[in-house]
Order: sequence, then C-alpha cells, then structure tokens
Amino acid sequence: MLTVFGSTALDTIRTPKKTLKNVLGGAATFAAISASFFTKPGLIAVVGTDFPKKYHNILKKYLDLDGLSVLKGKTFRYDGKYDETLSVRETLKTELNVLEYFKPSVPKEYQKSDFVYLANNDPVQNTKIIKEFDNVKFSMCDTIEFWIKTKRNDVVKMMKSVDAVVINDEEAKLLTKEGNLIKCAKKIMSWGTRYVIIKKGEHGSLLFYEDQIFPSVGFSLESVLDPTGAGDSFAGAMIGYLASKKKTSASEIKKSIVYGNVMGSFAVEGYGLEGLLRLKKSNIIRRVKQYEKMISF
Ligand code: AMP
Repeated sequence: MLTVFGSTALDTIRTPKKTLKNVLGGAATFAAISASFFTKPGLIAVVGTDFPKKYHNILKKYLDLDGLSVLKGKTFRYDGKYDETLSVRETLKTELNVLEYFKPSVPKEYQKSDFVYLANNDPVQNTKIIKEFDNVKFSMCDTIEFWIKTKRNDVVKMMKSVDAVVINDEEAKLLTKEGNLIKCAKKIMSWGTRYVIIKKGEHGSLLFYEDQIFPSVGFSLESVLDPTGAGDSFAGAMIGYLASKKKTSASEIKKSIVYGNVMGSFAVEGYGLEGLLRLKKSNIIRRVKQYEKMISF
C-alpha cells in the first residue's frame, strides 16, 4: 500500500490569464491524486471546518480518506503568483492554519504501507510520522522554500530519514547553499538519502544515485496554463508507479521518472487540479508512448 502525507490546501493561484481563488490544492492532494492512476493511495492530511464538501467528494473519489482529519479552524492556504512566462512563481502568502498544530497519526490499516510519500509539509511532522510505519520499503520526500527558510535543520533531518528526496532546482540550491546541481545532489546524499531527484520544471529532471546521473527531459508542450502542483504530480506518479510494481530497483526508478514527467505535463495543461481530474488511464499510456518516441534515436 502507498500512503501520502502532506498538505491539503485551499490555493489562490494568480496566472497572467486567470486568477483562481480558494481552489482545492496542496502538495499531498496533487501527489496522491496523481499516484491514484497507478494504485489506491491512503491520504493523511488535515483540513479545517471550512473545507468545502465538493472538494471532500473529489478526494473521496480518488483516495482512501481514513487518514484525513477535519479540525476546528481554517484549512491551510497558499497564495502564489506567476510571472508572464509562467516559469517564476512568487509566494504571496502561506497560512498554516490547522496544519500548524496538527498532530498526525497513522491509521492502523496504513501502518503496513510499504511505500510512503512525505509531500511538502512541516518537516518535523514528516520526520515523526515516517517512524510510525512498520515496514517501509521505499520512502520519498519533498520540500519548499517556506520550510527551508523557517526550519532548515529539520528539513535536513527529514531528508536523512527517507530513501529518496525529490526537490526542485532552486530549492536544492537554497537548501544546500551550492550553485551547481551535482554539488547540491552530492550534499543531500551525504546527509543519508540514497536517491536525489532534482526537478527542473519544463526541462525535466536529474536523478542522482551512487555515482550515477540519469537526466530526463520534460514532455514538450506548446500550451501551459498553470504549473501549480506539477512537481507534486511528478513525485506522486513516481511513487504510485513504484508501488504498483512493488519494485525499487534503479531501473524501475528511472521508469517511474518517465511517468513523473508525463503526469507533470498533464498537470500544467489545466488550472489547479483540472489537468489531472479529467485524465483517463488511456491518456497516460498514450503520452508515455509519445514520450518514448520523442526520446528515442
Ligand atoms: P508545487 O507547484 O509542486 O510547488 O506545489 C504547489 C502546492 O504546494 C500548492 O497546491 C500548495 O498548496 C502547496 N504548498 C505551498 N506551500 C506549501 C508549504 N509551505 N507547505 C506545504 N504545502 C505547500
């Protein structure tokens, strides 16, 4: 089984063409829904009493919600604005709300999960929760500027406790205080994780393990509407694919990255979760084939 833990949010997303207010988002939401195309994930997250029923229904359609807590108060809120090119995002506001004092615990039926994804979330909560699983075969985490700036030491500690770290290029540089991505990855690996995947937005990603580097391209698109959640969809697809295969070899991790690139590309083609919610498994299979064709020579 796969468990995904992290933020479920009400997002305000400002793109040059459109502003979305209080829409369903959150790193765990994107990751778990993306993973759900490969396996049925359990979600551990918290929302407030203001969380709309229609969003609850969307989560219920894709995920097991035994780990979702509803607490008195407001749901975590994120507000971000993209520049004209959609490649630079500025965070305008991060309101932790119920997430700040959340004391997560793993439901009994999730404790046996062999795959665990710690999506973007408070690193202290992430490090604590990973210890509550009985027999994790493969764990992965992500982080974001907000946590690197407010809880850097805890982010490092969290990265020590997982098998793989997925992180975007700018955040990898901010975290490691290195300017070169190979140096960033080496430093993160020196903290104890075996695999580091550095995401480079539309340019794909770099996987580092042992002394190996595996670069992968993004799926080329002519039209992008909203990049929010692309990184989370990438990571969710990776771990969802691995969980469905029950394998964690380097070659399967490389294949999972192809699925990551493909699911990330669907995510950016719609606003908020739209790109994922309209997907069918057949769309994914078709795009994986196109991707393979694109990179073969
Ligand atoms: P991405 O575009 O992949 O970086 O992910 C964006 C998602 O991460 C949004 O849906 C936000 O709700 C969520 N998010 C933004 N900041 C944080 C944070 N500090 N902690 C947890 N989740 C966050």
